[in-house]
Amino acid sequence: MSEKLFIADENEIRSGSVMDVYFDRTRKILEAKGLSDTRVVAEFTSGGLPNKWPWAVFCGLEEVIRLMEGVPVDLYAVPEGTIFRARDSASVRVPLMNISGAYAEFGVYETAMLGMLCQPSGVATASARVKCAAKGKTVFAFGNRRMHPGIAGVLDRSCYVGGCDGVSSTFGADLCGTEAVGTVPHALMLTMGSNEAAFKAFDEIIDPKVPRIMLIDTFEDERAAAVAACKSVKDLKGVRLDTPSSRRGNFKELINEVRWELDINGYKDVKIIASGGLNEDSIKAVVDSAVAGFGVGTSIANAPTLDFSMDIVEKEGKPISKRGKFSGRKYAYRCPCCFEMGVALSPTEKVRCERCGVDMEMIEKPILKNGKRVAPPRAPSEIRESVLEQLRTLKELA
Ligand SMILES: [Zn+2]
Repeated sequence: MSEKLFIADENEIRSGSVMDVYFDRTRKILEAKGLSDTRVVAEFTSGGLPNKWPWAVFCGLEEVIRLMEGVPVDLYAVPEGTIFRARDSASVRVPLMNISGAYAEFGVYETAMLGMLCQPSGVATASARVKCAAKGKTVFAFGNRRMHPGIAGVLDRSCYVGGCDGVSSTFGADLCGTEAVGTVPHALMLTMGSNEAAFKAFDEIIDPKVPRIMLIDTFEDERAAAVAACKSVKDLKGVRLDTPSSRRGNFKELINEVRWELDINGYKDVKIIASGGLNEDSIKAVVDSAVAGFGVGTSIANAPTLDFSMDIVEKEGKPISKRGKFSGRKYAYRCPCCFEMGVALSPTEKVRCERCGVDMEMIEKPILKNGKRVAPPRAPSEIRESVLEQLRTLKELA
């Protein structure tokens, strides 16, 4: 039997063995001192966004709900996919999630809950930014190879929720409720010896439902290889240029030249997909060309994590907090026009957006009541649509 891989399985996460050990010690002390029932409210806030991002996408809530279902706590949160603006450093932090119950019951999950929010929110935000840079053109997430395979599903779901149109792993696609997307690896052309042999074999063997998109930069000039691919595969949907940077020269010009050659040979419907180390900036540099879509890897998968923290703000109904944090149970508000965030100490209070002069909306919702789910699960496609809708609003503001 093979030895265990270096990943915590679901039971190990649920049993708390990936928690930071000081939480377990705290639980033991509280139990020994008869303080297991001490009830607190803890809030999850972000202090500031990395890379000077002006806004971010809140992602990962569904996994937190699945982790905490059955634990006797009340959980409130803004909807997954909520776009929130970076906070001005002097203002009160806005809680995107709130948990209340006996600290001894949920404190041990702090490490896991934060990890389930911080990294997915970073990846979803990077995806949303790439989707904006692509000006509505297709974006496929191909970055799983840059991260540990144990989190492939988490990454793919976060990419999809953040606005990517498709993800590359079957496991991730299942989580998203979509089909995995992929073209052809260079390995197929190399092992078969030529583009033509590889393209024809793909077309012969692979399910006809899979769109035919051939990779054309393996051996020769992309222009000739593109036309040859059209001749080898009857129902060719696209060609992918993964052109190495050493051969790229002016990538935009290369894409337009391939487009011209495809058109002049009568292949107007064959789309051009670009990939290979692309990020927001390099996508912006080529987006106004004949390119129809992008495969994006490292720049999304390796997104900086958001710095959510969990802090106790109330104990036995009384406000309390550590230095540097604002005490008291707070309710999250957001401006419907510009997505500026605000807080109130009661859910019926009025909060005004200073930028727009309109009333903000209270956006937090009850999710778990005593460990029981009270908010129906939302499909990743629905969350993704809400993100794309919010991005359109942001674009109008810009
Ligand atoms: Zn506003």
